[in-house]
Amino acid sequence: MAERVETEVLIAGGGMVGLTLAAALAKAGVAVMVVDRLDPAAMREEAFDGRGSAIARGSQQALAVTGLWSGMAAAASPILDIRISDGSPVGEPTEVARRGGASALHLHFSHGDVAQETGRGASPAAAPPLGHIVENTVIRRACLARAAERDSLDLRAPAELTEVARGPKGVTARLGDGTAVAARLLVAADGRGSAQRRDAGIRVTQVGYSQTGIVATVAHERPHHGVAHEHFLPAGPFALLPMNDAEDETGLMVHRSSLVWTERSDLAPAMLALDRAGFAAEMQRRFGDSLGRLSLWSARTWSYPLSLLHAERMIDQRLALVGDAAHGIHPIAGQGLNLGLRDVAALAESIVDARRLGLDIGNPQVLERYQRWRRFDTLALIAATDSLNRLFSNDLPPVRLLRDLGLAAVNRMPPLKRFFMRHAMGLVGELPRLLKGEAL
Ligand SMILES: Cc1cc2nc3c(=O)[nH]c(=O)nc-3n(C[C@H](O)[C@H](O)[C@H](O)COP(=O)(O)OP(=O)(O)OC[C@H]3O[C@@H](n4cnc5c(N)ncnc54)[C@H](O)[C@@H]3O)c2cc1C
Repeated sequence: MAERVETEVLIAGGGMVGLTLAAALAKAGVAVMVVDRLDPAAMREEAFDGRGSAIARGSQQALAVTGLWSGMAAAASPILDIRISDGSPVGEPTEVARRGGASALHLHFSHGDVAQETGRGASPAAAPPLGHIVENTVIRRACLARAAERDSLDLRAPAELTEVARGPKGVTARLGDGTAVAARLLVAADGRGSAQRRDAGIRVTQVGYSQTGIVATVAHERPHHGVAHEHFLPAGPFALLPMNDAEDETGLMVHRSSLVWTERSDLAPAMLALDRAGFAAEMQRRFGDSLGRLSLWSARTWSYPLSLLHAERMIDQRLALVGDAAHGIHPIAGQGLNLGLRDVAALAESIVDARRLGLDIGNPQVLERYQRWRRFDTLALIAATDSLNRLFSNDLPPVRLLRDLGLAAVNRMPPLKRFFMRHAMGLVGELPRLLKGEAL
């Protein structure tokens, strides 16, 4: 006899977004089943995902309330400052290199500036960080560990969802092993190629950037002092994001950063084919000497084709889209996962509030509330990341002059800088409770 399971929320996709939603709902007592086609053992492997994610302050607060942050805090590296500078075409010494790491036309965000605005911490040095860098492997492991602990969270992986039917009264589905599932709501957290979104007939706008994100962990001679560097080059941004120091095989502590190097897709294969010394030389040529000699720390590099994706709707009958299933953005501002975690916070609150009132959590009013809540933030971030990428991945002299002057001007306007910082920290707008660090 095939197993029959009754749950409240069925989540397709157990990536970082799907599992965070599951953990948040389970903590609030909602019964959840998560189905992912991949084996969790593979997801825990370092080779699975070489990226580190910039976790904004609001997202960190949500992860903390959900009980996930404790599983990643030790490995999280604080971002104290962000330094954005405009580079030269590759081949010429970069602006940063020429000036020994101190380009005049740059933008510098400091955690101390935000503290002054909020009045928190008399000394800027004591101010909380702007965000943290956490390796995706660490985030996945923390999510999977929590999933294993919670009774009301049923993770089925590797497993396939088949025969999904959404009707006015509920959702029914079958797993590949024949298990029959009944739920009130289906959530698509199955990433950019979401099968649930496609089956619901939700159209997407997709624009390829002809850029590839090359990712690795980099060792460097000098400490980063918690500074995230983003250096704009004609092919796209070249970012080194601060990570915790680690011991090498000889027992020496090594300074490390997470590399996100946006390269033209026609040139990326040649960069990825370089040996370790050649790859290090190309990194150094682009970044300059401000962190001393750069070398590859990770055993390998990873690459991701970059594109923009926007679903025309985030909801359908008894269906809500979250994370990359609803929107995929350029990593230029390190905000894709943060956007997904803000979806999680808004959807979890909509569900829990409805449930407390004794309402059907899959009813259209609940889903409309979620979609309305997320519309502005999503569109704003899609527009901002797309425009920033177009503005900076461009080597026309008049455009460069204007953007350099713009960077320098913003740098001299503390209120405008604080406005940008609060946005990047995910602390703007009508915040769901989780993002404010409050329980659901
Ligand atoms: C180079 C790069 C750097 C980035 N850096 C940052 C950063 O610094 N900060 C940040 O906030 N964001 C960053 N992002 C974005 C971030 O990585 C993504 O937004 C995030 O991973 C999306 O997570 P997700 O869970 O929505 O989707 P996914 O990670 O795609 O997870 C989807 C899950 O669904 C499962 N699945 C798919 N189809 C099915 C199916 N049919 N049945 C069952 N399961 C299925 C998959 O196995 C997977 O586990 C970056 C992205 C790139 C490319």
